[in-house]
Amino acid sequence: MSAKYWAKGEGVMGAVPRPRKRLFLALIVVSLLLATLSGYGLWKVSFLGLATISYFLPLILGGLLAAVILAIAAGVVGIVMAILGFPTPSVFLGLAWSTINLLFPLAIQVGKIFDIEKERIERSFIEVSNHLVRQKRIRVKAERLLVLTPHCIQQESCPHKITRDASNCRECGKCRVGDLLHLTREYGVNLAVVTGGTLARKVVKTLKPHAVLAIACERDLTSGIQDVFPLPAIGILNERPEGPCCNTSVDIDKVEKAIQDFLAEPKK
Ligand code: SF4
Repeated sequence: MSAKYWAKGEGVMGAVPRPRKRLFLALIVVSLLLATLSGYGLWKVSFLGLATISYFLPLILGGLLAAVILAIAAGVVGIVMAILGFPTPSVFLGLAWSTINLLFPLAIQVGKIFDIEKERIERSFIEVSNHLVRQKRIRVKAERLLVLTPHCIQQESCPHKITRDASNCRECGKCRVGDLLHLTREYGVNLAVVTGGTLARKVVKTLKPHAVLAIACERDLTSGIQDVFPLPAIGILNERPEGPCCNTSVDIDKVEKAIQDFLAEPKK
């Protein structure tokens, strides 16, 4: 990037600690055990009632519940294999991807029982999700990649309206919007600055990207990744040197690397 832009790696104040994938992994294993026990409990409770209607109904319910639990278990195996770096068959990767999105709400509840901070779980979820997306080695054309960033990345005092059109930014260097605009122009990918989840969903619906690179806080990234699922999305946590939702920043190197990883022809 041009020297006129902020120095690479600058803006680490407010940076978040590196998340650990194993936290989310441990929570979804516990969630799987709970789901298995609940499934068994449901089957046991409904057994007699169903058996009085038909001999086959308990078998059908048992078969369906077992199939769901086995699919989730295969997903967990896929996550473990991918995280440990073993070559993971795509069927396991697909199940792993669905499993983390399916079990996320349960993992949060399990985390509450163990008094684990929600943001830590969200960071770990994002790390696991990013890892799985990268393992799938998805490549898209530049015009099919969307970089989404929240409005709070804009310098609070800036008068330019960039949520309708990011190119209204004058690239003055006072915030990262100019850097992002410069970067996305260089690679020919889409950039949208959005005021919230509703606008983000609208942009995704309009542009119909094949992959999304989202910059946001823990809460917005986790909900965003689940919202756009099964669209592949890489999440990059923003930096909040002045607290949440005000003059936030992002590591441009990370954004550039993620763009390169997604592009079929990454050369500028
Ligand atoms: S870089 Fe763009 S958005 Fe940021 S303060 Fe300057 S003109 Fe405004």
